[in-house]
Amino acid sequence: MKAEIVATGTELLLGETLNTSAHYLTGKLSSLGIEVDYHTTVGDNSLRLEQVLRQAMDRSDLLVTTGGLGPTADDLTKELVAKVLNLQMELDQRSLNNIKEFFGRRKAPMPSSNEKQAYFPKGSKILPNPIGTAPGAIIENGGKTVIILPGPPFEMQPMFENYALPEIQRIIGPNSERMNERVLKVFGIGESALEEVLGDLMHLPDLSMALLAKRAEMHIRLVARGTVAASEKVLDALDKTETEIKRRLGDKVFGRDQETMIGIVGQILKENHLTVSTAESCTGGLLGAALTQEPGSSEFYLGGVVSYSNSLKQQLLGVNEKTLGLFGAVSEEVAKEMAEGIRTRSGSDFAVSTTGIAGPGGGSDLKPVGLVYIGFASTEKVYAQKFQFYGERESVRQLTVQAALNGIRQ
Ligand code: ATP
Ligand code: MG
Repeated sequence: MKAEIVATGTELLLGETLNTSAHYLTGKLSSLGIEVDYHTTVGDNSLRLEQVLRQAMDRSDLLVTTGGLGPTADDLTKELVAKVLNLQMELDQRSLNNIKEFFGRRKAPMPSSNEKQAYFPKGSKILPNPIGTAPGAIIENGGKTVIILPGPPFEMQPMFENYALPEIQRIIGPNSERMNERVLKVFGIGESALEEVLGDLMHLPDLSMALLAKRAEMHIRLVARGTVAASEKVLDALDKTETEIKRRLGDKVFGRDQETMIGIVGQILKENHLTVSTAESCTGGLLGAALTQEPGSSEFYLGGVVSYSNSLKQQLLGVNEKTLGLFGAVSEEVAKEMAEGIRTRSGSDFAVSTTGIAGPGGGSDLKPVGLVYIGFASTEKVYAQKFQFYGERESVRQLTVQAALNGIRQ
């Protein structure tokens, strides 16, 4: 089945609003094994929208539109779909009642313009809108399907998920091929090294693998095609490949799918009832920000110090003036003293420090840009790890945060 997405709204063409709905819908359709061939964005203009709809219905089996369901005169999607399919517009009494109730709950009279939102091309199946006033619709006509969705993503997404998706699944049937996706997240190995380690797994039958470089981690995306009826076999292929990847990469694999590094670190700390504190130089508070990103972080994060200057490293963390003089701020010794300094002062079980040269200036032959030391202190031991990162300032800082979190995880 070939699909295309038509997003309407002049604001999308003015650069005011990013067309996130095309991204969302494409992901959803692809995972159903439906090939999305075109994305079109068109303004609230009846002539151009009509042209776009005609073309889309000519060349695709499934057309999904977003936007243009509002009560105003420039909201034209349903009317033009009806025109292109040669259908009359018909009142849906249930939708009208729902819209009236919507205003009733708000103790406001329904403006007469909203009545328009209860009219649909004849033969539409209505997709309810529990959040706003504009219902959507699905029309099956001559072997083609049109799905009409509202513009606001917070209305469009639940409508798609709850009402459109089951209809699409019904239309494609259980014997159509789906894409079953799994993402493994990896830290501590680059793209080319990863390709070398996993190269032979990249061309397995029935399973495709892609490496995606993110700013501070690598993603391994596994996709297995298979029908719903054969889903056990497909899951088995994914499980086997995941196990093999983990065998080869060890604990460089830190998570999968929706899991994040910070989510996993937080979980480990909570499960073990451990607290952590931070002393940051080159990350300037980014590590603390990461550790407080998720709700419930107060269970494990006590807080930290951003000690960018040498004098604050001494005053707030007790870093020795001699150590700074002998080794410089970016050194294993200072990283260790920073970590131990914040741990003893905060009383945390564990502490992490960062000191490095984020660039673009400040590097030397001995200490090039991207050189970072991360200190770790626990009640038992204090140590530091040396890293040489590559990339611009923001990448070095993000990689440092990720490496620090990864160190806590391990
Ligand atoms: P309304 O009843 O609000 O008029 P509508 O169906 O006519 O609904 P639009 O007016 O086209 O929808 O869009 C409403 C808002 O939703 C826009 O201001 C925009 O912020 C957002 N929006 C619309 N289309 C998209 C899209 N493709 N991607 C992301 N946001 C969108
Ligand atoms: Mg609109």
